[in-house]
Amino acid sequence: MSSIDYIYRYDPDNPEDKSLPPDPPTARQVLEEGNRVYSRWIEECRSHQLNDQPNQYIVPWHGLLVDIEHPPRQAPFAVILGCADARVPIEMVFGQASNDLFVVRVAGNVLANVCMGSIEYALSNLAETVKCVVVLGHLNCGAVTDTVKAYLHPAEYAMKIQSTGLRSIVQSLFTSVKLADDAIHRIWGPDAPRHHEYHDALIHVSVCVNAAQSALDLRNEVKRSGHKEIEVLYGVFNMVTHQVRMPADPRAPRGEPHVNLAHAPRGASGVTNIAELMAEIVRPKHVKRYRPAAKAAASQP
Ligand SMILES: [Zn+2]
Repeated sequence: MSSIDYIYRYDPDNPEDKSLPPDPPTARQVLEEGNRVYSRWIEECRSHQLNDQPNQYIVPWHGLLVDIEHPPRQAPFAVILGCADARVPIEMVFGQASNDLFVVRVAGNVLANVCMGSIEYALSNLAETVKCVVVLGHLNCGAVTDTVKAYLHPAEYAMKIQSTGLRSIVQSLFTSVKLADDAIHRIWGPDAPRHHEYHDALIHVSVCVNAAQSALDLRNEVKRSGHKEIEVLYGVFNMVTHQVRMPADPRAPRGEPHVNLAHAPRGASGVTNIAELMAEIVRPKHVKRYRPAAKAAASQP
């Protein structure tokens, strides 16, 4: 069987053929299409099922990088806040090359002060080319999983995690886990923790809430900094399908039409809405949608 190549290609005859996306909607389309190419390549590698397309997946290399005399001008079209997880290589996930993305990576993609500072740097100094800011969470995130353990078993957590650095990451994620838990209780009912699916569901919903909350915070920061034309988006990477989606249904079909980045919530209620939507998506079939009893008795004369 022949190899299945993922290639960075520079065309000397047309070195500038990879033009910058002119606006945020185009930037979003470029990222989504890049993820479709990447996930298609991985799927083909994993399945060994060659499709009817040539078995080469090509990422254009930007002409700005090949000037021998001078360092290239930094010209990313998107700022990405992603997790440090080695299985989520940001440029590859979005099918991009060097100088396309300004990437900030930290465990749990938490929006710590230094991360916000890096993003503010990009907004201040690279506004000419930056069209969008993206928060990328991912399923099976170790930082979120540890935070869920700490949330559910705080005494054990206090004994295990002595490092102040690790604690700060877990504490940054705590609010998202609480919001996710509240949403699961509203959708599944007060007995939610008794279901064996609860633990994994809490991790999954927390990942999405964390990405949504960071996107909301970044949206507010982008507005405050006066760059109203820059869009803030978010999504969650599935390490089985290698696709970015929002909402991130782990049971959704693998079809490429499902690749999408969502716009950042416009307020706290938007984060609550996505938490409840995710709680509904991961609700097991045997768990009925919770309908609290009407408080009629209290209002009756
Ligand atoms: Zn992670």
